[in-house]
Amino acid sequence: VISSTENNGPRTITIVPDWLVPIESPSLEEGFLVLHDGEVAFVGDELPAKFQSIPCVRLNGIAVLPGLVNAHCHLEFSDLTTPIASGPSFPSWIRRLIDYRNSESLDATERAEARRKAIAKGINESYATGVRWIVDMTTQPWSHDWTDWNRVGFDQTDVNRGGNHMHPPIVVQPCIELIDITPQRYQQTKHFSMEQCHAPPLHNSGRTGLAPHAPYTASLQATQFAVEKSRLESRLLSVHLAESIEEMEWLSHQSGPFSQLLAPFINAEYFTTLGTIAERLSQMSHAWRALVVHGNYLAPDELQFVAEHTFSMAVVLCPRTHAHFGHRHGSTGRYPLTERLEMGVRHLIGTDSRASNPDLNLWKEAQWIRRENPSLPAERVLRMVTIDAANFLDLKQRYGALREGYSANLTAIQLGSKKLQIDSLFDAILDSQTESFPIESKFARCD
Ligand SMILES: [Zn+2]
Repeated sequence: VISSTENNGPRTITIVPDWLVPIESPSLEEGFLVLHDGEVAFVGDELPAKFQSIPCVRLNGIAVLPGLVNAHCHLEFSDLTTPIASGPSFPSWIRRLIDYRNSESLDATERAEARRKAIAKGINESYATGVRWIVDMTTQPWSHDWTDWNRVGFDQTDVNRGGNHMHPPIVVQPCIELIDITPQRYQQTKHFSMEQCHAPPLHNSGRTGLAPHAPYTASLQATQFAVEKSRLESRLLSVHLAESIEEMEWLSHQSGPFSQLLAPFINAEYFTTLGTIAERLSQMSHAWRALVVHGNYLAPDELQFVAEHTFSMAVVLCPRTHAHFGHRHGSTGRYPLTERLEMGVRHLIGTDSRASNPDLNLWKEAQWIRRENPSLPAERVLRMVTIDAANFLDLKQRYGALREGYSANLTAIQLGSKKLQIDSLFDAILDSQTESFPIESKFARCD
């Protein structure tokens, strides 16, 4: 075991993988990457003299990328072992999800503890597959402590997975859900979200954002409140929008499976500020940064609008969740990613939750996209899960690059033994056989 990676004191190590792949600049074959105390201290072809006495690890068959960023997740459902079955309608899946939660018959304390454990499980799972930043949709019960790496209960016996207090190996950025189908619910969620936004900032999490959940749960009014807060305080806004055909039907006619699902809860007043998808997009364009989660059924002019606001608006595609629900686009079930990218619509990638996805492995989402869109260059897909996400979320100076002073939260890709050529490197990295890991867990393999 490498002595300099023990938990106490600064940890410095040089790593020499087959490839260092910054994506934004040329890849380096057998280049040197020096990590010091949670940060990148050097990247380059020749190791400076001052680093020559520190431990050096050669990682065979490995490429190192900027850390993977999961742009949409609900960690609270990470205790599910298999996704909740879909069909016959999207609201019927929501119904089953609510029933699953209610079937647990726990008191408030037990419920909070179960939630805490589920979140810890999701964080650990994400970390193990090389995810280094998660945008989480957060609901009550929740506590900031629950996302603290030092408390999420990973395997303490593996000293190489430690990280340190100031540089947690994975960061959760909570977007607190706002729901106003009833005045009481609005009061609760608004109070909780404001409390979280005004809590002192913690090193172990990203800046708190806001999530007016979806058109069928958050009115134009609640969304407007969150947009203002986002704009004035540079907070991320995340909204599920145009996800299902049932949502579109309900928005246009207030009918269909959503009206049956919502009838027992919803207040007549809610409909007075329901609005259209176009109105919601227009509202969201004033946010500091807005994630349009799913956006499956956006019309061409709405997509055009998102493209025109590419600096502050991005669609989040969750590929395997899209497949889980069997959404149709024209005659196919394929999400028209290439076409929408060509229109200029920025896309980030998320896993969504274990309620609609078998796992939280973002790398598998990237591989899925690659398979479904063979004409889309692998580099483009790699950018969406690394640099593009980091830049859009304003994680610059920390994430999105292999560069001195940036976070050491990088992602390793196991390539297999074959010697690779630089001209097909991105294709080989995103091949369906590769696997992603956090760079630290690789140290343990190279005694
Ligand atoms: Zn979601």
